Amino acid sequence: MKCPQCGGEMVDAKREGVAVVCCESCQGLWLTPQELDELEAKTYDLGKKGSLVFHRESSTRGCPICGAKLQSFEYRDYDLQLELCPSAHGFWLDAGEDKRVIELMKRERTKVKDEINAEDQWAFDIKHWRSPDILDKILNVIRLR
Ligand SMILES: [Zn+2]
Ligand SMILES: [Zn+2]
Repeated sequence: MKCPQCGGEMVDAKREGVAVVCCESCQGLWLTPQELDELEAKTYDLGKKGSLVFHRESSTRGCPICGAKLQSFEYRDYDLQLELCPSAHGFWLDAGEDKRVIELMKRERTKVKDEINAEDQWAFDIKHWRSPDILDKILNVIRLR
């Protein structure tokens, strides 16, 4: 199987004891839906509740199985973009994104309300700080002083 990111060779690998395929060159991962499910369940069993795919957009990469254009999406509505084949052949994770999935599952596991709220607030703040509109306002405030 060829890597959809760099065309490198995809080889069998293990992540958290789950059998996956990994690109030798860019370390990206290809997971079947079952494998992604297993990877999550190693840390926290979400059960069947909750949607996985939010805000789908077309991606430039192709599915290594069928060649169809992958779709990028926000994983469980978190600030993490993964990609999937529209025919559900599998998921593409860039290098290190499997660790983000594990982190997010850990967060679910230790669902302390305040902690979650703080995290959400943090993500909200970051988004606003990045917005040029807000940045202009802040710069104006600084200039006025
Ligand atoms: Zn690659
Ligand atoms: Zn496919």
